[in-house]
Amino acid sequence: MKKKKLVIIGAGLSGLYSAVLLQDKYDVTIIEARNRTGGRIMGIDGHDMGPSWIWPHQKNILKLIEILDLELFSQYTEGLASYDAPDGVQHFRPSQTGPSFRLKGGISQMVRALENRLENPVKLNEKVLSLTQLNEMIVVKTLDTTYEAEMVISTLPPRLAVESIAYSPALPEALHTQLQNIPTWMGYAAKCVIEYADAFWRDKGLSGFAISHLGPLGEIHDACTHEKAALFGFVHSTEKYENFEEDVIQQLTRLYGRKASDPINFHLVDWKKEPYTSTPLDAMPLREHPSYGFNATHFDGQLIFLGTESSFVEGGYLEGAVTSALGLLKRL
Ligand SMILES: Cc1cc2nc3c(=O)[nH]c(=O)nc-3n(C[C@H](O)[C@H](O)[C@H](O)COP(=O)(O)OP(=O)(O)OC[C@H]3O[C@@H](n4cnc5c(N)ncnc54)[C@H](O)[C@@H]3O)c2cc1C
Repeated sequence: MKKKKLVIIGAGLSGLYSAVLLQDKYDVTIIEARNRTGGRIMGIDGHDMGPSWIWPHQKNILKLIEILDLELFSQYTEGLASYDAPDGVQHFRPSQTGPSFRLKGGISQMVRALENRLENPVKLNEKVLSLTQLNEMIVVKTLDTTYEAEMVISTLPPRLAVESIAYSPALPEALHTQLQNIPTWMGYAAKCVIEYADAFWRDKGLSGFAISHLGPLGEIHDACTHEKAALFGFVHSTEKYENFEEDVIQQLTRLYGRKASDPINFHLVDWKKEPYTSTPLDAMPLREHPSYGFNATHFDGQLIFLGTESSFVEGGYLEGAVTSALGLLKRL
């Protein structure tokens, strides 16, 4: 029997995993605006520029990692943490928190492994512009191409889904407002990875973890991979620094000593400037993790809004993305 056509918008973790789960039952096409897959998962030179951590209670993603035959390792936390105080650097032993894991080779390994399982390759560089319900089908228009499908799944951050795609018939006002009010998790963050010849902070008995109100980096962690030594930090705003890179190196030298002044590589991704992740509404940092989770459809149920923010379980996180895809499998 001929399979029904299903278009998935977005090749992030939610979109890719949904496609893998549903491709036996549907003829699946994934349409992706960027020239790469992964969405908020992004690797540069083996470094995670988006998510890096998975936590032990996140059962669905841990199971997926096992299925994909990928390898976890523990976040390095041995030694003292540092506080970048106005009157000098202080060291302290942080209170015990649960372990977090990272993926050998970076979180992008998961994207690659899922992509390898797809029957149809992802359509890259195709920004979806409009969705129209016509004669019991949904017409999906990108700049160059028109697709038709019985079902469409949007995995865009909900705010982006309402701000960047035109709907005909239009979204009901209440749904439009509901989706627009859902902040994009980490949409305001910038992440910076600084690579070194060796992990000299470890030799000094430091874990690499630091907190700072002086900046530019507000929170710093060890980011060593199996091949490279590195630190990473989050920064809320790069704009207020004239020489951002120099200021970061100065801060790291203050915290970890002279060897920090000699990095091999410096990578920065400012997620609020990524038009396929964030909207101007996402520029303000969030004070706390929002309470995510929603069920939303349009076009008489032919369009489903998915993605990590839709998940009632660990919404915002990788676990939320995986859980939303598993939930979709039960619905379709
Ligand atoms: C800096 C940072 C650090 C993070 N750290 C962690 C962490 O340590 N642990 C954790 O669990 N989570 C973390 N997260 C969150 C995690 O990255 C997300 O939960 C997850 O990647 C979301 O996947 P998704 O598929 O739901 O959404 P996305 O990855 O956002 O996928 C949406 C896709 O839609 C595409 N798209 C957008 N507009 C269009 C359009 N018009 N047409 C076609 N395609 C379009 C996008 O390009 C993208 O590929 C972090 C995120 C960031 C940014």
